[in-house]
Order: sequence, then structure tokens, then C-alpha cells
Amino acid sequence: MFKRLKTKLIVVYSVALVCFISFLLIYSSSHIHKEFTVFLKNELQQSNDYINTYCLSFHKPINKQFFSYEIVTVLKNLSHKSSMHITIIQSDGTVLFDSDADFQMMENHSYRPEILQATKKGVGTAIRFSQTMKADMLYVAEYFDGYYISSAKSLDTVNALISSITKNILVAGIIILVLSIGVTFINSSTFTKPITESLQFINNFFDGDLNARIYNYKDDELGLLQKAMNRLADSIQQRINELSGEKNKLFMIIESIHDPIALIDENKKLSVYNGAFAHCFDLSNELVNKYYYTLIRHSDLNAKIHVSLLQKQKIIFEETINNKNFQIFIYPFQDPSSGVLLVMHDVTEQKRIQQLKSDLVGNLSHELKTPISIIRGYLETIKDNICDHQTTQQFLEHALLNVERQNAIINDMLKLNQLETSTYYLNETINVKDCISRCIDLLMPKIQKKNLTIAMELDSLPEKITGNDFLAEEIFFNIIDNAINYNNEGGSIAITASANTNALIIRIADTGIGIPPDEIPRIFERFYRVDKSRSRETGGTGLGLSIVKHAALILGWKIDVSSSMNGSTFSVSIPTYKV
Ligand code: ADP
Repeated sequence: MFKRLKTKLIVVYSVALVCFISFLLIYSSSHIHKEFTVFLKNELQQSNDYINTYCLSFHKPINKQFFSYEIVTVLKNLSHKSSMHITIIQSDGTVLFDSDADFQMMENHSYRPEILQATKKGVGTAIRFSQTMKADMLYVAEYFDGYYISSAKSLDTVNALISSITKNILVAGIIILVLSIGVTFINSSTFTKPITESLQFINNFFDGDLNARIYNYKDDELGLLQKAMNRLADSIQQRINELSGEKNKLFMIIESIHDPIALIDENKKLSVYNGAFAHCFDLSNELVNKYYYTLIRHSDLNAKIHVSLLQKQKIIFEETINNKNFQIFIYPFQDPSSGVLLVMHDVTEQKRIQQLKSDLVGNLSHELKTPISIIRGYLETIKDNICDHQTTQQFLEHALLNVERQNAIINDMLKLNQLETSTYYLNETINVKDCISRCIDLLMPKIQKKNLTIAMELDSLPEKITGNDFLAEEIFFNIIDNAINYNNEGGSIAITASANTNALIIRIADTGIGIPPDEIPRIFERFYRVDKSRSRETGGTGLGLSIVKHAALILGWKIDVSSSMNGSTFSVSIPTYKV
């Protein structure tokens, strides 16, 4: 009804005050009435005694004849002076005298309450309305020797007194009430202010204003309570900060994981996810609180999540989603109201490497087996048939050639493995022109054998660049070696250098057989050869360009290939910042 404490205080206090004033009024008026009646009764009794002693006792018997003109005058004077109504009644109830009415007209008084009482006890009293006096009267009757004297006095005075006192108390009460309400209002405002402030603080705090505090508290109990509330807020804020710190760390950890991760609650809605998850399903915007099946567009995965949510069952399976292979884990939380954790481990690279490994093993064993079979063939022929010296010599040379080929394959494989596994290569100052010259010197016998002409235009190259001599030599040696191997007899090789804003470009162009355009992307793969017999003839391992690719990757260089019927051009780009 009254919700505010201040209103309650005012209402309770006012009601208490009204009750108190009402009680005071009732108590005081009844007390005054009672005391005054006692006082009046004594007065009337004394008056009765006086009348009996001084007016009647000497002239007995008392009968109608007794009330002579003189006696009546004395009694009426007495009645008038003392404002009393005097009645003298015979013992049978006949009225003998009445100070204010004609006694002969009056009825018998023997049944009047005060007379009946006086008959029994000697003295009787009664209060009632007098038709003769037209007022509330107090009657005191006393029995004397064969007659009653009844004196009565109007109670108007006492009633007037009581009503005047009541009025005064009422006025004083209303003034006190108004003043009290005012004082209570001020007091209750002072009392309730800290409570209102505290409530305001609690509301602000719960609405998220963690810095809200109560200031200016007093030294009383409420002040101590407010101080305690502030301390509580401090510790809650600290705890919240700690928790949000932990939460942020957790989010950072989840975000940094490359595998898609999502937490789906028991209402089938997404509650936590990472960037990889959004990326995997091509989602943007805020995903939290959305149904998982509206986000994940994969019926099998959705069905398994549904089963896991329903049966609280851990599910692990493999699935291809958007051309990627995932090993998917769905972990249900044991708490019945917590949903499932979805972790999608991307195994695409793993699978690719596995495939590469098995391809490599297949290729390598094939590559190594071929020369061994050839060697064995030659040796068995020599052993079984005693050939002439020249043929034996020829077979042994062929066998040796294959041994060398096998040796070359093993060497190139070791080199490739070294490039793939070593993460660190010394960054040194190298001279590319010298490096290319060294490669040509090494390959000169082959160049001469094939009658090739070499043209070099490398003057624009800077003296020093940052790189690694071993890796640079691997790149240029293999490219120039191929330019020789796949060149035509009497052909030429041109090695030129140019520069643009981003890079130095060294081009190695030959006039050889060229590479078909659709084969170009594959020539850097291990053991890939465009023309297998030609490669074998030239003693190629099929690994040269793979070595080039890896060495360039480590150095941050770029290799481009263009080819036509007239030959091929390999361009090596060295970024300018390396210069
Ligand atoms: P290989 O040891 O067989 O030369 P590479 O890895 O060096 O192996 O080269 C792969 C294949 O690319 C070669 O077998 C050849 O078919 C082709 N190739 C490389 N360079 C040239 C070139 N300059 N001209 C024509 N074909 C080339």
C-alpha cells in the first residue's frame, strides 16, 4: 500500500499520534466527568444535610401543612442562590415541595432511581435528563426521618467544561500532528537518504556501472553498511576484472587456434566460436545465439551434433568440408545443461603430406630400381656369356653410367631433403655474376661437347647482394644445366640481367626443345620429366628444378618460366630489398 519507507514512517507516526490524542481526549473527558460528579455529589449531599438541619429538623412532622409561605421562601431562596433544584418527598413518594415546579402537579417519586437507592442505602444518586429543568441533572437523594430530600444540579457546566477541554486538546493535537508530520518528514528524509543512495548504487552496479560507489557516508550504522557495500563492490569488481581477463585470454587462445572451434549450448545455439569456424563455413556478422543448423551448411555434421546433444555421446569422424579434410570431434559436456564442444581438426595438409610421402616412396623406389635392374642386366650378361673384351668393356661402361645415375639421384635427394628440413641458411654477401661464372666453368665440358655458344650480359648486376652462395649456385647450376641438356646441338644460351623497381631479373634463355605450356606448372615437382628418355639420356635425375624451387623459396627469390618452340627462358627475380 505504502511502498516508500518515508511514507510508511509518516503514516505510522501520524496514526500513532492520532490514537494517542484520541485516547487522551477520551481519558481526560471521562476522568473530568467522574471527578466533577463526585465533587457535585458531595456538594448536593451537604446541601441535603444543610436543608434538613437548618430548615426542617425543628418543625416536625413534615407534611403538606408544614410548608408554610416562610419555609417555601427560604427553600426557594436557597435553591436560587445555589442553582440547585430541591425536592422534598414524603416516604410514600408524594412530592411535598419542589423549588422549580408546582409539587401538586408532580407524580409520585417513589420509583425514581435515586429514591429507590436512598430507601435501601440512605443515600441515592442518579444522572438523567430532567423534563422540568430541560437539562442533564445529577440527583442526590437522602432519606431522613420519614421523608427524602433530593437536591439536583445541572451537569451543563461539566459538559461545557469537557467540551471546551476536548476542543483545546483537539486543536493542540492537530497542531502537534501537523508539526509532527513536518518533523517526521524531515527526519525520515534524513534517515531514508542513505538508503535511497544505497539503492541507487546497487541499481547502477547491477546495470553494469562497476565504478559506481557510495560517497559521503556517515559514521552511524547505515554508514558502516554503506562502507561494507563499497568493499563488496570493490571485491566484485576485482573478481569480474579477473574473470573477464581470464575470459579474454581464453578467447585469445581459442582465436589463435587454426582449427575451427565452436561451443553449442543445450538450446542448440552457438555460444562461443573462433575466426577459423566462421571462415570454414563462410560466415560473417555476429554468430552468437544463432541456431547451429542455420550456420553449418552440412547435413551430416548437423545430424551428428544433433545426436551428440541428444544422447550426450562423444563422436569422432572424418569429413570433407569445402575441399578440406577435417577430423571432427564432438564432445558433449557432462553437465546436463551445457551442450557440446565442436573441434574440427584440419588434416588437409597432413593428408597431402601423407600422399606426397607415399608418392615419393613410390617414385624413389622406382627411380632407384631402374638403374639397379639395368646394372644387374649388364652384369648378368657379362657373367653368363663370356663376351669379347670390347663388348664387356662397353657393358661395364653402361653399368657404371647407371651407378653414377643412381648416385646422382641419391645425392639430389639428400640435397632436397637438406633444403626442406633446414630452416636456417647463413645470410651472406654474394656476387651473382661470379656465382654464374663458376657454374659455367663447371659445365664448360658439356657446353663444348654440344657446341653451344654462351652469351652473357651481366654488367648491370650489382657487385654485392644479400643471399647464400650455396643456394644461389644450386639455382643457377640446375637452370643452366637444363639449358644445356635440353638444347639442340650447336644451339645457344643467353644469360642477361635487367632491373625494375621491385627486383633484379636474371634471364637464362636457351634455343632448345622448349616445354609445352600445360607441362610448365608441373616441371618443379619431384621426378617430373616432360620427356623421360631425353632426361635419362642427359643423366637427369628429375630433381633439379625441385632443388631450384626450394632454394628460391628459402632465399625469397622468384622463378618464372616461359617457353615456345624456339626454346625456354627461366627468369630469376631477386627482390630489390635484398640488394
Ligand atoms: P631433369 O633432371 O630431368 O632435368 P629437372 O627437374 O631439372 O629434371 O627438370 C624437369 C623437367 O623439365 C625435365 O625433365 C625437362 O623435361 C623439363 N625441362 C627443364 N628445363 C628445361 C629446358 N631448359 N628446356 C626444356 N625442358 C626443360
